[in-house]
Amino acid sequence: MSSLDAFAAAKLAEMEARNLRRWLVETDRREEVRATRNGRELISFCCNDYLNLSQNARVKKAAINAIETYGTGSGASRLVTGNHPLFGILEARLAKLKQAEDCVIFGSGYLANLGIVPALVGPGDLILVDELSHSCLLMGTKLSGAEAHIFRHNDLGHLTDLLAAHRGHARHCLILTDGVFSMDGDLAPVHEMAVLAKAHDAWLMTDDAHGIGVVGEGRGSSFVGGVKADVPLQMGTLSKAIGSYGGYLCASKPVVDLIRTRARTLIYSTGLPPASVAAAIAALDVIEENPDYAALPVKKAALFTRALNLPAPESPIVPLVIGEAEATMKASALLEAEGYLVTGIRPPTVPAGTARLRFTFTAEHKDEDILRLAGLVRDRILPKRAAE
Ligand SMILES: *Cc1c(COP(=O)(O)O)cnc(C)c1O
Repeated sequence: MSSLDAFAAAKLAEMEARNLRRWLVETDRREEVRATRNGRELISFCCNDYLNLSQNARVKKAAINAIETYGTGSGASRLVTGNHPLFGILEARLAKLKQAEDCVIFGSGYLANLGIVPALVGPGDLILVDELSHSCLLMGTKLSGAEAHIFRHNDLGHLTDLLAAHRGHARHCLILTDGVFSMDGDLAPVHEMAVLAKAHDAWLMTDDAHGIGVVGEGRGSSFVGGVKADVPLQMGTLSKAIGSYGGYLCASKPVVDLIRTRARTLIYSTGLPPASVAAAIAALDVIEENPDYAALPVKKAALFTRALNLPAPESPIVPLVIGEAEATMKASALLEAEGYLVTGIRPPTVPAGTARLRFTFTAEHKDEDILRLAGLVRDRILPKRAAE
């Protein structure tokens, strides 16, 4: 065996022993909430397609039309010849939705954060980032070379202390947080953070991958409560509630122009295929025309939490922390045997000892399926968890 293969095999064996090896399981999603796995049809409660727009007839039609008009690929980076006419339309729509001056689209949410953060800060600057922020905010932080400190989850007191200790000697300061936390489903206190950031001349950036389309009347976490929080950098993805693919940043005109000029993941990566951009535009049409539909995923999540006496959800994401990875994967297998797809989430996606089932709810889930799932959790999973 070559040293390369031996390295990979040893690493895998080590992960397997800790129940942390991951597998790609072929999953056929052809309908709104159903998925076929290992030949069995399951009801999926672990998809981020919160409004089921990836299967929406109008959205699919828009993608097909775009392929027929513009072809399947964009052919180059957007700065070369890949900037097909649909980009400008989508950017204007997102800027309007987010009440920002301008918007720029990236190849994905992950690429967006890897591009944006190093384009705005570097050595001599400061980043303060919530400990539960998504991997791509943390990787963008690392890539930037800025001095970085992690604040305790949603802890404004800790953030204030870090600003007091470090803001003074830094040229610029960026505060990074998920708007809706991807594995916990709770919201960041964006209104308070925006005030705090301003007081310290720090720039607040929220990653609203799980906010757009489903909270704040579909506008995202900056809009929860009805008044817009003053967040100068609103980032997100088109791959979840929007049902397509791609990332975006909504910000002021000079900031967006700078990103277009400086973000490496925009400059050196091919533009999104026309179909993805057209699908996102059609998805925004659906969301803007049907605010009641956008409110459904959180309502469905609330039906589940009420049945289990869990705290009311702030988003369509409801975590049930089990603890160890092995017990979590067993709980997931138990639900799968009953016809429900709920993937176990393990470290390093979540902190050690907090492996969990992560339930996500979508507009098209039927109440009876949600209640039956809640019954299974109550009778078969919670008693075991209490006994651990
Ligand atoms: C999914 C996710 C991303 C990555 O977005 P993609 O478009 O899937 O690359 C970024 N941030 C958060 C919080 C996410 O949940």
